[in-house]
Amino acid sequence: MSLKKYQEKRNFKISPEPSGKSNATAAHKKAGLYVIQKHRATQLHYDFRLEFNGVLLSWAVPKGPSLDPSVKRLAMQVEDHPLEYGDFEGVIPEGEYGGGTVMVWDNGEWLPESDDVEKALEKGDLKFTLHGKKLKGSWVLVRTHGYGSKEGKSWLLIKHRDEFASQKDVALEEPRSVLSRRLLADIARDGGGNAEKASTGDPPGSLKSGTKKSVKKKRGKS
Ligand code: MN
Repeated sequence: MSLKKYQEKRNFKISPEPSGKSNATAAHKKAGLYVIQKHRATQLHYDFRLEFNGVLLSWAVPKGPSLDPSVKRLAMQVEDHPLEYGDFEGVIPEGEYGGGTVMVWDNGEWLPESDDVEKALEKGDLKFTLHGKKLKGSWVLVRTHGYGSKEGKSWLLIKHRDEFASQKDVALEEPRSVLSRRLLADIARDGGGNAEKASTGDPPGSLKSGTKKSVKKKRGKS
């Protein structure tokens, strides 16, 4: 686990992302930080992160998580991120690595379901429980033999069957930040980014329909 790759890819004089340089050591806890960042970069994706050994293990999930146990979502492992990245919500300047808008879409804690996380990662079969605001219950990350398997970077994120499994499209129905309740377009606008590009990651018409509804409500009451 190292932040070398993370730091090499970024210019912290230009990007507001945390450098991770002030975070050399972190106490090992049994329950770790869990966070998903919705990231409208070149392509929309959801960055799934689990705290382990003082860093955030990270996977980019193009379609986001599914609560349906029959749905397997591709999760490409990317470089470890610093722990303080878990709070980062804002705009990465265009032209920089990952340029675009970042939202803290879900967060909470995770607990491994096996004693030896290192071994589970090596084996390519990590079972865990999430205590997030949106995602809960038992999940698994399984390494695949498909695209990217040579480097061991290609995994699948799958919900286990339990009381939190459902057919609900959680990415579509709960599109807002758990930190600020903002949509991607709001975060982009507030951070001086490209709100139009960011809005393509929000559910279609979510800003407009929200405004219309509140207008209608007021009219109906008066
Ligand atoms: Mn990303």
